[in-house]
Amino acid sequence: MVSSHKYTMLINGQQIQGAATLEVLNPATEEIIAHAPDASREQLDAAVAAANTAFLQWSRRPIAERQALVKEIARCIEDNKDELSRIFIAEMGRSRDGAEWEMVTAANWCRGTAQYDLPVTVIEDNDEHRVEVRHTPIGVVGAITPWNAPILIAIWKLAPALLAGNTVVLKPSPYTPLTTLRLGELLRDILPAGVLNIVSGGNELGQWITEHPDITKVSFTGSTATGRRVMESASRTLKRITLELGGNDAAIVLPDVDPKVVAPALFWGAFFNSAQVCVATKRLYIHEDIYDAVAQELVKYARTITIGDGSQEGVDLGPVQNKMQFEKVKNLLDSTREQGHRFLLGGEAPEGKGYFIPVSIVDNPPQDSRVVIEEAFGPVLPLLKYKDIDEVIAWANDSDTGLAGSVWSNDLEQAHEVAGRLQTGTVWINEMFAFSPHAPFSGHKQSGLGAEHGMEGLLEFTNTQTITTRKVPMTA
Ligand code: NAD
Repeated sequence: MVSSHKYTMLINGQQIQGAATLEVLNPATEEIIAHAPDASREQLDAAVAAANTAFLQWSRRPIAERQALVKEIARCIEDNKDELSRIFIAEMGRSRDGAEWEMVTAANWCRGTAQYDLPVTVIEDNDEHRVEVRHTPIGVVGAITPWNAPILIAIWKLAPALLAGNTVVLKPSPYTPLTTLRLGELLRDILPAGVLNIVSGGNELGQWITEHPDITKVSFTGSTATGRRVMESASRTLKRITLELGGNDAAIVLPDVDPKVVAPALFWGAFFNSAQVCVATKRLYIHEDIYDAVAQELVKYARTITIGDGSQEGVDLGPVQNKMQFEKVKNLLDSTREQGHRFLLGGEAPEGKGYFIPVSIVDNPPQDSRVVIEEAFGPVLPLLKYKDIDEVIAWANDSDTGLAGSVWSNDLEQAHEVAGRLQTGTVWINEMFAFSPHAPFSGHKQSGLGAEHGMEGLLEFTNTQTITTRKVPMTA
């Protein structure tokens, strides 16, 4: 099914073949499952031209009509959940439950976003003047997504961009373009031609988007290194940009928790999607009084987890999504071993087909070791012992990035106090991944620029316009 389908791009309401093709692999088998279009620069130009033409009508439609169409995207995802999940598992490697969760969450996101209206704020209204602040769409949005959550992250961009009255040119990652392309094919008859265009290709295509003179806003999710390139390239035409980048997220476990109770939530907070989650726990700080007990419960829980091909029943965690990332994580495991740090579990990738890495837990490595300071973006988690709350907060904040973090305690007041001292855009207390279409998500430091979600996220897809009306009649 996945391999027999001829995936096409969506340009001006037409399904278009690429100028060339890209091979897409299943990371669980390393087999080629499809050839995706590889867009030429001329094809990108055609998509941008179509989006610019469509903008004239789309931006002037009443917002109620745009809200209705964003809800239609939700319905389309739900109606096609099984097919989209199947493609997603094959290209991404995620478990079946994980794939379905992504589709359901993406649909809910569209509905949550569709509740918003663009505000008009009256600053002054008296006999002489009326001053109002409005928010107008920007134009053509270039949306660039990574491989770890291709549908959800695409929706995080499309839904608010379209709702605000922009048109979109979306580029998925070359590693996982298929589900996004298929969604585009399904949306062809729902959205007016040119409102949403989907082009696939390599990293060069991303660069062309960030340089394109007729794209006025770029919303990018990916690594911090690429984010810097996007910012540099977008600066030449002074595009508006939103950047959601990497992080080295810390969880802090206070001494009052029950290790057995907290272990499963700590596990999933670190290892969901085989730890390929920007906001997953990458460093787990545990108070020394309960360090051994938490470590033991985590290892015990981790031993109950099944790793394998996500298309198989009973699989909890799939492979790492691509060879580049697989080699990076293997290298980190090797260096951790070479530096003499002890694994409580895992530590070595098995031989054989597929980019599989076992759940790997490292026992209290030094604070400045590679496994602590690097974003692994794979199933490797260092556990770190701390004594003092000020010391652990300083360690958690000792990073150039500041995406998310979590605090675990039965004392909610103390947990809240600790949360407020973390230099990250998001902090969860006693849970993880509690995202909402209404709560802003943003990175501090080098984890990004701007915000997604909620009113703050929606306004990132608008320009501010102040209209001042002089009410006093003009006289000669
Ligand atoms: P990546 O930066 O390599 O690629 C992301 C996207 O950018 C891909 O579509 C890629 O083709 C494109 N791209 C590459 N070079 C480009 C360039 N010069 N100009 C424009 N586009 C370019 O990231 P990845 O490896 O796909 O994803 C993993 C990274 O993403 C991790 O660091 C992770 O933390 C981060 N991430 C962040 C969030 C967030 O919301 N903050 C969410 C998911 C992933």
